[in-house]
Amino acid sequence: MKAAVFHEFGGPDQVRIEEVTTPRPGPGEVLISVRAAALNHLDLWARRGLPGVPLPHIGGSDIAGVIDEVGEGVVSPAVGDPVVVNPTLSCGSCAACNAGEEPLCARFSIIGEHHDGGFAEYVVVPAANTYRVPPDRDLTLAAAAPLTFLTAWRGLITRGRLEPGETVLVTGASGGVALAAIAIAGHRGARVLAITSTGHVEQVRALGVDDVFDRRDPEHRKALWERTARNGVDLVFDSVGAVTWHDNVRALARGGRLVTYGATTGHAAQTDIRYVFWRQIEIIGTTMSNRAEFRTVMDLVFGGTFQPVVDVVWPLSKARQAHERLERGDHFGKIVLVP
Ligand code: ZN
Repeated sequence: MKAAVFHEFGGPDQVRIEEVTTPRPGPGEVLISVRAAALNHLDLWARRGLPGVPLPHIGGSDIAGVIDEVGEGVVSPAVGDPVVVNPTLSCGSCAACNAGEEPLCARFSIIGEHHDGGFAEYVVVPAANTYRVPPDRDLTLAAAAPLTFLTAWRGLITRGRLEPGETVLVTGASGGVALAAIAIAGHRGARVLAITSTGHVEQVRALGVDDVFDRRDPEHRKALWERTARNGVDLVFDSVGAVTWHDNVRALARGGRLVTYGATTGHAAQTDIRYVFWRQIEIIGTTMSNRAEFRTVMDLVFGGTFQPVVDVVWPLSKARQAHERLERGDHFGKIVLVP
């Protein structure tokens, strides 16, 4: 089969289209004929080099396709079923797994990071990690949904405890998770504020965001503070990291929560502790989702409540250019590759 493979860690030029052996499903596994796979920042981090990424490696955690073959003992799904993949794996027997909190499992791992992913014509995953997509759904759109919506759902609802009527600030509002967060926060009945780059202000406003701020405007944080009547926001949802950290802490209202799901611009930032105790704020980390959250949010996506935002759909042969586009930050929504 054809796959986008890298043999060494490094820049986008490490990603090459190669002929590799088609994997076969073992017991409890399924072989998926990939119809579409979406890029995430995780793919960039994996390519640059993360501990636990095996080499050579095929990236791609967001996978939609059709079941091509089922391994021994698999009852569901069946050959021909359209599916999306829950990209998370865990041991299934520790205290965290028994409590249904797989992302806290010490052996938590991700398809596309620790295991070969979907930037290929075929991928093998456990049958238990598949979600059957209604047959009339576009699998290109389906591939854009899992990681973004599951991350945003766990971050806002489970970890962030977002309530109707609260005010949310979503930063970096051109990325897939941020755009999913805007949809989820609006659905929850929150007031949504967003910060994005100049070229994306109107696109974000068109999603129904209450106030959009241009991050290149040097006064944008002051304007945001005024728009909250100088009270601050109840929840900040951020993966920009170091560059926005201090401003995010200062933007919080009393009792506010800063939910972090990444650190795109750097992982070392200073926290002014006075804000933490005096305003009694919480700093909350989140990553991926548990199985129950995945099912809940996929039911909402494929029931039509949420619509993923797709930036471009490119052939798999443009995998390297896709890495470059995401790295430059030119995208608005998901970059999807079709083998
Ligand atoms: Zn476990």
